[in-house]
Amino acid sequence: MNIIFLGAPSCGKGTQSKIVEKKYKVTHISMGELLREKAEDPQDPLGLHIKQLIDNGRLVDDEIIMDLIHDKLNSFTSDEGILFDGFPRTLEQARLLDQLFRKHGRVIDHVINFEIDDRVVLERIQGRRTCPDCGMSYHLELNPPKVENTCDVCGSNLIIRKDDNVESAKVRLTNYYALTYPLVDYYKEQGKLVSIDALQEIGKVSKDIDQILGGKKQWLFVKTKRKLSC
Ligand code: AMP
Repeated sequence: MNIIFLGAPSCGKGTQSKIVEKKYKVTHISMGELLREKAEDPQDPLGLHIKQLIDNGRLVDDEIIMDLIHDKLNSFTSDEGILFDGFPRTLEQARLLDQLFRKHGRVIDHVINFEIDDRVVLERIQGRRTCPDCGMSYHLELNPPKVENTCDVCGSNLIIRKDDNVESAKVRLTNYYALTYPLVDYYKEQGKLVSIDALQEIGKVSKDIDQILGGKKQWLFVKTKRKLSC
């Protein structure tokens, strides 16, 4: 089973990915995590370039993204399922993924679109804490760690991501509507898209996802006007 999670920043894709990865035994590919790893080496010009884009809330070049995906797909030794979280984020990436999948004999089974309110995006981003080691994310009020500032999974100290601030979040949201939102129609036309209400609590979102992956729901949620002009 190959799955794509689409949605604005902090819509809960990462949190749900960790749940789905365990439950459905799929390999979770978080493009944000892959890029943050690449950006760790300040001596590497490519890493530095990626870091500057991420820190400013801008999208990384399609070419760099597709190189990473290419390498990832080539590294799979079996036809294990994949869950893409934060990829594709542009129409070009989606078209290239379709080509790559054809080459690898894979199909995209489900595209789940997390619908959220822009105002909530900004609130969630300001309360988000992330584990720098395993990528788990938390929210100070909505999903706090069991022990303050400590990752439940691996025990590392939690951090505030450099791009988790209002300024960068507004750039990310603008980019999301301009470059990523067109993917909703792209996958709708392919008959693969189901939207879910990502404003619900984590457990309820997870149940909706189970219904979609279990083939029980073809349609769950239609977005009303929730866009904030920023
Ligand atoms: P995320 O962890 O999904 O919030 O991603 C963090 C940042 O990584 C984004 O704001 C972008 O700068 C970059 N990024 C992640 N995925 C992509 C992608 N598919 N295309 C371009 N840039 C990306």
